[in-house]
Amino acid sequence: MKLLRRRLTINGIVQGVGFRPFIYALAKDVGLVGSVCNTSDGVKVELQGSTLQHEQFNKRLHGEAPPLSTIISVKSEEIPTAEDSDFIIIASHDKAAVSTLISPDVATCEDCKLELFDSTNRRYKYPFINCTNCGPRYTIIENIPYDRPYTSMKHFPLCEVCHTEYQDPADRRFHAQPNACPECGPEIWLTDQKGDKIESNDPVSDTIELLARGKIIAIKGLGGFHLAVDASNADAVAALRMAKGRDEKPLALMVSNLDSAKELVQLNQEENDTLLSIQAPIVLCTSRASAKIASNIAPGNDRLGIMLPYTPLHHLLLSEKLDTLVMTSANFSEEPICIDNDEALERLSDLADYFLLHNRDIYLRSDDSVVMEMSNTIRPIRRSRGYAPRPIFLKKSGPSILAVGGELKNVVALSKGEKVFLSQHIGDLENLEAYEFFQMTIDHIQRIFEIEPELIVHDLHPEYLSTKWAKDQSLPLFGVQHHHAHLASCMAENNLDEPVIGIIMDGTGYGTDGTIWGGEFLVGDASGFERMAHFEPMPLPGGEAAIKSPWRIGLSYLYQVFGDNLPAIPALENHDIQPIVQMLEARINSPLTSSCGRLFDAVAALSGGRQEIRYEAQAAIEFMQAAQNQLGNDLSLFKPLSIDKKHIIPIKPIMESLVSRIQAGKTIRQLSQWFHHSLIQTFVDISVQLRAETGINKIVLSGGVFQNQLLFEGLLRDLDTRKFSTITHQQVPTNDGGIALGQVALGQNYLRK
Ligand code: ZN
Ligand code: ZN
Ligand code: FE
Repeated sequence: MKLLRRRLTINGIVQGVGFRPFIYALAKDVGLVGSVCNTSDGVKVELQGSTLQHEQFNKRLHGEAPPLSTIISVKSEEIPTAEDSDFIIIASHDKAAVSTLISPDVATCEDCKLELFDSTNRRYKYPFINCTNCGPRYTIIENIPYDRPYTSMKHFPLCEVCHTEYQDPADRRFHAQPNACPECGPEIWLTDQKGDKIESNDPVSDTIELLARGKIIAIKGLGGFHLAVDASNADAVAALRMAKGRDEKPLALMVSNLDSAKELVQLNQEENDTLLSIQAPIVLCTSRASAKIASNIAPGNDRLGIMLPYTPLHHLLLSEKLDTLVMTSANFSEEPICIDNDEALERLSDLADYFLLHNRDIYLRSDDSVVMEMSNTIRPIRRSRGYAPRPIFLKKSGPSILAVGGELKNVVALSKGEKVFLSQHIGDLENLEAYEFFQMTIDHIQRIFEIEPELIVHDLHPEYLSTKWAKDQSLPLFGVQHHHAHLASCMAENNLDEPVIGIIMDGTGYGTDGTIWGGEFLVGDASGFERMAHFEPMPLPGGEAAIKSPWRIGLSYLYQVFGDNLPAIPALENHDIQPIVQMLEARINSPLTSSCGRLFDAVAALSGGRQEIRYEAQAAIEFMQAAQNQLGNDLSLFKPLSIDKKHIIPIKPIMESLVSRIQAGKTIRQLSQWFHHSLIQTFVDISVQLRAETGINKIVLSGGVFQNQLLFEGLLRDLDTRKFSTITHQQVPTNDGGIALGQVALGQNYLRK
């Protein structure tokens, strides 16, 4: 038999995810000798054996790789044979050599779940059971290399049994850094509001009892604290809302298993698979009328945010008499989620009745991720726990960039080579805690991925705290337009670099002309863009404050069109319109905006929908849901006016058509169907026009408004019919949580020139 020796260099997410033991077991199984080790270039494998054995290895390498790994590339070269008699794992002690891709936190795997509920297992009901394929990762890492002494597990020396598992390549806990057992690992306990420990033999059972009695419990989890209440208890839910300062925004639910989830919501295959995935995000699903939960969980909303238990503690809490818990981030309003025991007791003592604590520290907070299925694809709304810090891979390698994101739903990004590390969800930078968290996250990602950025990319908005922070640093700066970043973000995750048409429908973004943009057709690529079409700019009376009162925006749009001859609109009858009209007349504090989000607010409010909102985009969401997933037949085409080679979509015909329909007594359902239908056709019409002008057939959709399923799916469908090639977000959010990726792409391009 002719012996052949090859060296493979494997790249991707292949370190800290059980990859070496997998290679070890596979080589042994196939009968190859050689070695495997981690290096800074990736995992290096040397294999010696027959051609057939090599072939078998290659085939199974891709088919059977561990669940947390992602193979991006395999480089293979033939090398001289050697005198090996066995296959070995070579330990690496060199810090540079283990410059690793850190895995996100991973939901409890099936093997661990079986052990958790096996009364003969030594980890029976142990709330911190984990293995090489599951458990905490990103949130417990303090520094690199990813090794126990650099994680919050450093306080828990392994007992002998755990140590043996940890050392054994054949064990499923080989090099599982958070490995632990009741003998040596972290523990849980229950306290009252003051932090005084409640003596208990079984804190989990006692917590379940308290929840069943309607109490609010702050539960320390993986990426932070949750506030939990029994989802069937409307009084408990109301108390939670009151405490949290959240009166209408939907609350997320954790459901014991898939069967219970199916009683609450309709699930298609994609949603099903995503609930069960290792990321275990919150999935926004269509609720069932028969769902047996308190009515105040998602008032006025036809969707429910559902997740399955993703830590052993969650499994234990939901394995007995409670089936569904409200599990919402433990914070007041939009502040960052709490992670520290003392911090929680201080900040949450007015919010929670009891605390279920543990002593495994969380170094980096990470909120639950939120996803939603649209056009048969699961799309992120909030990319955080389970996904971050898994990199997005760009088409080509580039200089290291720090992108500081926007203001709301802030996410930062740091790039290295062809990899972009997007942070977990940071939140709204307007509050101080979030701003501190923002700075800490930048430091942390720079440290654990050893990134030294050459350039900071920020939004053009001078008032964003992220922009101000960037300007205080000593690195070179590059400011990019908000919607150009949206466009570049969608292009980057889809590996596009040729010029495209971008339909960017958004809430707010600072324009290059100092007005607020947000309803834009851009044509461009990473090196620049032209604003080819947009909505006619309209005044926003009172500025950003008007966003909380959609009726004011409705009034403003109406006033621009009809002036003092305001038509009678039932929705406006009960408002004090005079002060707003005066503000508009005098043009004080009324910045101009071409925002599509604001147009939705205006139309929703005038149609009789939400007049004041309690959470972001509430008016638009409820207005969309009023259409009951249908577009109907009623249609107006809002033909753009061409001015200086620009297409401006005038507001006048939109308002006139709306008013005539309102006066004809159309219902909100009919109005919503008409508006969505008309907007889609108008967008398609402009796209056809721009294709004729530019010869470009690729269309990118981005911006927060495309979380509107009726608009998004309808537009995609009609663009497909017109033979456009459409490109959409699947890896990062279409909202501002995704713009940091675009900022990186724009920054790299800028430095290349
Ligand atoms: Zn496991
Ligand atoms: Zn142990
Ligand atoms: Fe935006």
